Amino acid sequence: MSVLNQKTIKSSIEFDGVTLHKGKMAKVKILPANPDTGIIFKRVDVKGDNIIDANFHNVSDATFCTTLSNSFGVSVSTIEHLMAALYGCGVDNALIEIDNEEVPIKDGSSKFFVEAIVKVGLEISNTPIKIIKILEKINIIDGEKMISIEPSKTSLEIDFEIKFNNPVIGKQRNVVNVYENELMDIYNSRTFCLFEDIEKLRKMNLAKGGSLENAIVVKGEKVLNEGGLRNGKEFVNHKILDCMGDLYLSGYKIIGKLVCSQGGHRLTNQLLRKIFSDNQNFSIFELKEKTIPHSIINKFPLKSIA
Ligand SMILES: [Zn+2]
Repeated sequence: MSVLNQKTIKSSIEFDGVTLHKGKMAKVKILPANPDTGIIFKRVDVKGDNIIDANFHNVSDATFCTTLSNSFGVSVSTIEHLMAALYGCGVDNALIEIDNEEVPIKDGSSKFFVEAIVKVGLEISNTPIKIIKILEKINIIDGEKMISIEPSKTSLEIDFEIKFNNPVIGKQRNVVNVYENELMDIYNSRTFCLFEDIEKLRKMNLAKGGSLENAIVVKGEKVLNEGGLRNGKEFVNHKILDCMGDLYLSGYKIIGKLVCSQGGHRLTNQLLRKIFSDNQNFSIFELKEKTIPHSIINKFPLKSIA
């Protein structure tokens, strides 16, 4: 069995919880799936036409969270923290059954999802994983926001920066190597908002399930959550988490160097659409152990891709 082969979860994972935006209760069951299935959502509360592929082409809204919709208009939203956990843990294939239109928010981070995946463990198949290698630099600038990706040898590096006109959040930047670094601080970092934005979100019929249990709320110079922050860069680390989850909508693991300033779900989706609009920008290859010298596999960061 090769670490470079596709993986699924060893047994199913079940959980429920309140959803962030609609404030409803949702039940989720993540089931093992065969090689080359990818990540698939199934709305079990909808009869027929209820399969939604976790693919960037299916992103129908990326304003406050990432929403996927199939061609029949059936959707599932706030998928990004679960997708980030699946990416980071190396789950290539899974069927996610859900009985509502939004994934439970849990504590606002990927902590619960990562712990659940680690607890059941992974099943390794005989099918090699596929990897997307970025071949050309792609750049998107939108006012003060920017995102770019360029070729890299074997890793996925995310270099993210946020600038907030708030003394607690302020300017934060972090750089992570997704396949080589310890990602616990990224997984544990919660979604956040400014206290003054809560009223606006509620008026837009959003954040109805939001509370100090599932989001960091910053009011002026204070973090309102008891216990404060989980790590020194929790705000930008959460943006990196979102970025990982949104990138996984490419369907495969990516090799490239991504730089983003003040971006979010929408910009990451635009980047994926731009990458895949031209075949010259990328290549997709299968990673077979026998095609790589043994000495390289031992040192190869791709070990942790798997
Ligand atoms: Zn998020």
